[in-house]
Amino acid sequence: MARFSRHILARSGRARCYSARVSTLAPYAADPARSRGRVHAEAPPQMRSEYQRDRDRIVHSAAFRRLVYKTQVFVNHEGDLFRTRLTHSLEVAQIARTIARSLALNEDLVETIALAHDLGHTPFGHAGQEVLNRCMREHGGFEHNLQSLRVVDTLETKYAGFDGLNLSFEAREGILKHCSRAKARELGEVGQRFLERSHPSAEAQLANLADEIAYNNHDIDDGLRAGLLDWEALCEVPLFGRFARIAQEQAAPRTRRQRRHEVIRRIINHLVVDLTRESQRRLEALGADTIDGIRAAGAPVIAYSEQAAQESAELKRFLHRHLYSHPRVLRSTYKAQRVLREIFEAYTQAPELLSAEVAQAVEAHGLERAVCDYLAGMTDRYALDEHERLYNPRRL
Ligand code: MG
Repeated sequence: MARFSRHILARSGRARCYSARVSTLAPYAADPARSRGRVHAEAPPQMRSEYQRDRDRIVHSAAFRRLVYKTQVFVNHEGDLFRTRLTHSLEVAQIARTIARSLALNEDLVETIALAHDLGHTPFGHAGQEVLNRCMREHGGFEHNLQSLRVVDTLETKYAGFDGLNLSFEAREGILKHCSRAKARELGEVGQRFLERSHPSAEAQLANLADEIAYNNHDIDDGLRAGLLDWEALCEVPLFGRFARIAQEQAAPRTRRQRRHEVIRRIINHLVVDLTRESQRRLEALGADTIDGIRAAGAPVIAYSEQAAQESAELKRFLHRHLYSHPRVLRSTYKAQRVLREIFEAYTQAPELLSAEVAQAVEAHGLERAVCDYLAGMTDRYALDEHERLYNPRRL
C-alpha cells in the first residue's frame, strides 16, 4: 500500500487492523469482513475477499464480455480505435483504483463497482436508453443504471443456486447510482438510501466520479480523432486551454496525436490529484470511524475542489453542445433508435418470433420487459444483424 495511505492513517490516528490482508484500509473503508452480506447466503471464499469474489464474478459474466461490442459515443463499426463500454469501464477502474489506494479505501470494491457500472447499457449508447425508455413507457420504463443492477441481480443465469451473481450488498449499493423513490421502495434494502437521502460508501462515490473523469477525457480524445471537435474551440474551455498551454511548454509535442495526448494526460492527472486532496480533506474533517459514518455524513466525502468542479462541469457542457449533439452523432443516434424501436415492435407484435430462451423469460417477466431485457443485452453488431433478419425479406 502506498506511503500516502499510511500517512493518512497515522495522522488521523484511527488506524485499525481487521486482518493482516486489510490492515492498511482506513477505518471508514468498506471492510469485506463486515459486509452486509449477500441475498443468498454462501460459504466464505477461499484465498479471496468477498469483494474480490464480486469482481471476479463480474469479469466472468456474459454481460461484461458483451461490453466490448457496445458503443460509448461512436457506433462500434465506425472505427477500431474508439472507446467501447469495455475499454471505458477499464479506464474507470484504473482511475478509481489509483485514488482508492491513495485514500486507503477498498480497491477491490471500487474496482468491482467500476467494472459493473455500465453492464446495463443498451447497444448504441445513450440513444438506446432513450428509445427503450419510450418503448417501455406503459410498462415501468427503462433506465440503464437500474438495468446494471438488474443484470447482476437477475439476468445472469448461470448459477444453479440463484438468479444473478449474488453480489455483496456493498457492490450492489455502488452499482445503483440513482433511483426514483417509487423504485427505491420496490428495491428494498439497496434502495433504502434514496428514501433516507443518505450517501453510499466512499468507494461507490469514488467510482461515480472516476466514471466522469474517464468519459470527459476519452470523449475529447475520440471526438478530436473523429474530427468532430475543433482544437481551437476546445482551447476556449478553461480546463483544456490551460493544460494545452502547459503541455506545449513542457512537452513540445511534434504530432497531433502527441499534442492531444499530452493535454489529456495532464487533465486526468490534475483531476485525480484534485479529487484525492479534496476528498482527503473532507474525510479528515468528518472523522468517520466506520463506513456507516460515511453513509450518514451531511455531504459526499468524495468530491472535487470548487474550482475543479466548476471547470469539469464546463467541459461537460462543451461536450454536450459540440460532441453529443454533433449532426454526425445525432444521425447515428437516429438510425440506432429506429433499429431498436423496430425490433421492439416486431417482437411485441409477433412474440412467436422469439427464441425459446427469450420466450422463457417472457413467462418470468412479462412480454415487454423480457423483450426490453433482450434488446438491452444486445451488442451494437447483434442489434443491426437482428434488425436485418427481421426486416429484410432476402435474409433468413
Ligand atoms: Mg460509465
